[in-house]
Amino acid sequence: MGAYRGPVCRLCRREGVKLLLKGDKCSSDKCALEKRQYPPGEKKKRMRRKVSGYGLQLREKQKARRIYGIRERQFHRYYEHAAKRKGVTGDLLLQYLERRLDNVVYRLGFAPSRPAARQLVRHRHFQVNNRIVDIPSYLVEKGDDISLKTRSKGLNAIIKPCLEKKSEKGMPAWLSLDRKGMKGLIVEMPKREEIPLPIKEELIIELYSK
Ligand code: SF4
Repeated sequence: MGAYRGPVCRLCRREGVKLLLKGDKCSSDKCALEKRQYPPGEKKKRMRRKVSGYGLQLREKQKARRIYGIRERQFHRYYEHAAKRKGVTGDLLLQYLERRLDNVVYRLGFAPSRPAARQLVRHRHFQVNNRIVDIPSYLVEKGDDISLKTRSKGLNAIIKPCLEKKSEKGMPAWLSLDRKGMKGLIVEMPKREEIPLPIKEELIIELYSK
């Protein structure tokens, strides 16, 4: 199945939570979910229907997939890798998702949303350990250095305001940012409690382990 190219606010309304796919608009009163808190396609506001156990698991998986903008096959591959490793599969699955370069660029504050971060990565604006990486799914490791390519510093007009908005408080403990040098460091691998997402990963694991 190809990537979703339709209106992204529909996805938030479908999942009933803010997936934060539109940058500044998501925290403004223009957010579609603020105005219409019911699934797309329903003409008037009504209570969400009761969902089966399978339905809950499916929705949780779709929510996670949509937050990170990942296709089903790739998402399932992360699950397979996580299931093979020692530890809590749900935590490891989320760790894989967080370690994606596009997510790290977003978390560091270089972009207002994950889709915007993915575009910056694809357009070859970022380096990992001084080498250009244009693969959004690239998995960062502890000690990696993420920096804006020198020639891309012309993007300052777009990136600087994003970095300024990113408060110290909003920076996960597993990342550190050098604002002046416009680079970030992976201090450690992300732990579950450092991933502030409304995802019940245990439901995803139940779904996939059937
Ligand atoms: Fe979702 Fe952002 Fe659209 Fe709100 S503005 S519905 S959070 S994508």
